[in-house]
Amino acid sequence: MPKFISVTWSEGVTSQESDILVQTISQMLKGLFLRYPSALWDPPLQVRVFGNWVIPALAAARKPYWGAQWYVEASYNRELGRVIAPTFLELVRREPWQQAEPHLDIILLDQDLTDFPTPLARLRPEHYTLGTSLPGSMAVMSVYRLRQIQGEKMRELALARLVRHHLGHILGVPLFTRKDEISRLGLETHCTNRCTMRHAHTVEELVEYAREETEMGWPFCEHCTRDLVSILVRLSHSWS
Ligand SMILES: [Zn+2]
Ligand SMILES: [Zn+2]
Repeated sequence: MPKFISVTWSEGVTSQESDILVQTISQMLKGLFLRYPSALWDPPLQVRVFGNWVIPALAAARKPYWGAQWYVEASYNRELGRVIAPTFLELVRREPWQQAEPHLDIILLDQDLTDFPTPLARLRPEHYTLGTSLPGSMAVMSVYRLRQIQGEKMRELALARLVRHHLGHILGVPLFTRKDEISRLGLETHCTNRCTMRHAHTVEELVEYAREETEMGWPFCEHCTRDLVSILVRLSHSWS
């Protein structure tokens, strides 16, 4: 059972962007604890921030897994100008740190991303994704498209919304077994309510949802909130 969530990012992510990433994760976990203080721990999940890490000895020898940037280089397709997310996530899944200590992973990149495997990505060169996940386990997201958004405040809201959405996926929300108010996209289950777990296909859609959800106070629908709490309760029971 995963005991913590690892937070990492690529070299080109700015400190402002990585601050939003880290703050959004802790605010979401804090928000859940405050809503259900009798059911959850504070925080309900351990967060370990590794950032843009490097292991100098491995880097000097150019060995695999030498640092956060290695995953990017090993999954970047020059011709498409994008990181191939399925390749990237497979490298994360097989990393030695995952074997040593099973954990959840959230990763932010500054390169453009596609959720298609390489052959399909070649056929659809205009297609991009803002982020993609292996539900219940890991997610990779990119600030690349978000940097085109007009206005600093809006860029921040959009990035926070992207992070919340993928933290939801990593935890496994909406539950795979949920029968109503959902739509499926590949391995991901999405919510169809007014909720952070709606899928944003484009940066324009992300901005629209981020605006709408800001007015909600708590950005998850009732159903997803219940799912989140039950997952976190289950995770914390498995540690004790
Ligand atoms: Zn999604
Ligand atoms: Zn929902």
